[in-house]
Amino acid sequence: MMADLPDHRMAPMDRWLDARAKLRQEQHLERHRRVSSGHHPVEIQSDGKPLLNFSSNDYLGLASHPDLVMALKDAADCQGVGSGASSLVTGYHAEHQLLERELAEFLQREKVLLCSSGYLANLAVATSLTGKGDAIIQDKLCHASLIDAARLSDAHLSRYGHVDMPALQRRLAAAHGGNTLVVSDGVFSMDGDTAPLNEIAALCLEQQAWLAVDDAHGIGVCGPGGRGSVAAAGLSSAKVPILTGTLGKAFGCFGAFVAGSERLIDHLVNEARSYIYTTAMPPALAASARAALRRVIEDNWRRDHLQELIRRFREGAKHRGLVLMPSDSPIQPMVIGDSRKTLELTAFLREKGYLVVAIRPPTVRKGTSRLRITLNAGHQPEQLDGLLDAIVLAGSHV
Ligand SMILES: *Cc1c(COP(=O)(O)O)cnc(C)c1O
Repeated sequence: MMADLPDHRMAPMDRWLDARAKLRQEQHLERHRRVSSGHHPVEIQSDGKPLLNFSSNDYLGLASHPDLVMALKDAADCQGVGSGASSLVTGYHAEHQLLERELAEFLQREKVLLCSSGYLANLAVATSLTGKGDAIIQDKLCHASLIDAARLSDAHLSRYGHVDMPALQRRLAAAHGGNTLVVSDGVFSMDGDTAPLNEIAALCLEQQAWLAVDDAHGIGVCGPGGRGSVAAAGLSSAKVPILTGTLGKAFGCFGAFVAGSERLIDHLVNEARSYIYTTAMPPALAASARAALRRVIEDNWRRDHLQELIRRFREGAKHRGLVLMPSDSPIQPMVIGDSRKTLELTAFLREKGYLVVAIRPPTVRKGTSRLRITLNAGHQPEQLDGLLDAIVLAGSHV
């Protein structure tokens, strides 16, 4: 058996991999995948164990909605599965075009470009708008895809303290020559708080910087008609010329988009490598996303119920002496600090029937490991109370 070979006889790469794995284990940072199954927004089987899911980003409970399922099936019957090519070759189908138009109308932007994922949408924006000699300025808690996008663009990346507006102002003043692109999450993915978008937009306007907001966790969930945190802040495309979102979260689907002016979208089509050099999303998924968009637009009750759940959860936590991070989004993190303790808590909750995933470095800053609890329009109020009681109980056990 290979594993029994003494160290010096192992292949150099295996030796290195083992050393890395050991380091991860010592720091309680190893990660394992569990196999999920089920067809319900909340009741999930995780490695075969039935649990209540408090860790999905399916905020509106749409991922298993019959309309989405039916649209996917119908479109697959007519158009098959794969798009067959990248969008500029033959992969751009009528369903993509329809979805782009409907999303543009929904978001009140001139045009929308569908991308295969939010990760790729963020790469598209940063790499096609900035390069050597330009500057990208980001909030320190921006999503990993935004950091990677900046790295790939060759622009100079500087990051300001989380929602620290004087720090952003200093970074903006220091940037000169070239384009300056300011980037922020609308709703921060691991903290759940909302960026001060009005202040950011005002600073950008003052310094003639371009503003890109990644509203992966806001669109569908907050703002008037579910149009997200940018709409909630009352910001038009003049103030936020670049808006990205994903279809993988509140839309319960897959894929992502960039919304902006016709000029911007034409530029991306021509110059964004992460758009050009990847297979277009399956057209049946675009059809499914259109069905999701209709639910997002019409089902105000989902957002209303979610808001009620958020209110109840925070009140219930306070009542039990549990401290949550300040957040009015469905992302309700509870910082534990120590990674090992966070893992023990999630294991305890799992035993009690609750799926809450531990978020640890490098996803979050060292010493801020947390339970990232996410609420979903499919949750029942009593399920929230049950989770809170289980967390209190866990506190006296681990
Ligand atoms: C999830 C997420 C993404 C990535 O979107 P995908 O469609 O899952 O690739 C990008 N930005 C933020 C802020 C996210 O939370």
